[in-house]
Amino acid sequence: MDLVIARPEGLYCPAGDFYIDPWRPVPRSIITHGHGDHARTGNGHYLAASPGAGILRARLGQDIALQTLDYGERLVHHGVTLSFHPAGHVLGSAQVRLEYRGEVWVASGDYKVEADGTCAPFEPVRCHTFITESTFGLPIYRWQPQAEIFAEVNQWWRENAALGKASVLFCYAFGKAQRLLHALDPSIGAILCHGAVEPLNRVYREGGVYLPETQYAGDFKKTDPALRSALILAPPSAGGSTWMRRFGDYSDAFASGWMRLRGSRRRRGVDRGFILSDHADWPGLLWAIEQTGAERVMVTHGSVNVLVRYLREQRGLDAQGFVTEYGDEDEGDGAAAESPQGGANVDASGRAHDPAEAAEDLDAASAKQAHADALAPPARAS
Ligand SMILES: [Zn+2]
Ligand SMILES: [Zn+2]
Repeated sequence: MDLVIARPEGLYCPAGDFYIDPWRPVPRSIITHGHGDHARTGNGHYLAASPGAGILRARLGQDIALQTLDYGERLVHHGVTLSFHPAGHVLGSAQVRLEYRGEVWVASGDYKVEADGTCAPFEPVRCHTFITESTFGLPIYRWQPQAEIFAEVNQWWRENAALGKASVLFCYAFGKAQRLLHALDPSIGAILCHGAVEPLNRVYREGGVYLPETQYAGDFKKTDPALRSALILAPPSAGGSTWMRRFGDYSDAFASGWMRLRGSRRRRGVDRGFILSDHADWPGLLWAIEQTGAERVMVTHGSVNVLVRYLREQRGLDAQGFVTEYGDEDEGDGAAAESPQGGANVDASGRAHDPAEAAEDLDAASAKQAHADALAPPARAS
């Protein structure tokens, strides 16, 4: 019998009678990380990795019934041995390892294989069956080393500051913002954060993650000279709002894996696009899957069909898709959860899923497939 099955409420473990990242309220949940499409309100009980506790409480409420385990610590529940292992995605993100009668399954949640200094690095876990995400599961997605991207961001900021212009960098408030902060060069100017970003910075610092000094952007008046060399981190939902006016004649940029797609910078209407994702790229996904030693792979949210077919045909694995309602924080959760007004401010036109453009780099055979599944807009996170 399968250790994890798909149910209308979410991924379910029948032997243990609990759900992993359920999208509907359930009595017992195991949460891989705090992004809105994985961690939702209304569950009776939450179990998560300890480094994510502050994030979950900040986002779901201080009073949730939350139990935590350190990475690697084991808990036996109804005969199922449970443990969390670093996923390298955001602070507290974890893969869930389940063992029952000698059978081992690992559910990845979201993961990234390049260590970034703001969360525990991804650790492959040996298993029989691996449930993997595939947000960027297309061959076109190959990330540049992050150090190069960060150098470009700092250079862009430096050039703007030299011209006496503020630099507004749009990114998602939880995870991406702190990863950027960690790498920014504070000698260039002041770093200001939107109200959606600042509380999460606090949680990261409390978790022992180095972030340079930041100030609340709302405290600055348009006439403040510090703005002329400042970098402002804001969620995409702040774009085009009156909140932006105080920054005068600024340059803006967007940091996201979706910036890989031609046209996405233009659609966002920003001066610069930095390709920076908190998810594994295509080689990263394949590497991670191989490292698990799993013979069976269940593929969730993203380019499910492309990755499933590749794993079957090129790797000889028993691969199949798993239908879930996970989205992508860069598309849904980010904008909705981070809007200071409490959501409803998703910029639908900002979706980077243009099949024609995404498919341009694919070989002809996989392009059609890509149209069919990978580029359908991900489910909106609540
Ligand atoms: Zn995520
Ligand atoms: Zn996800």
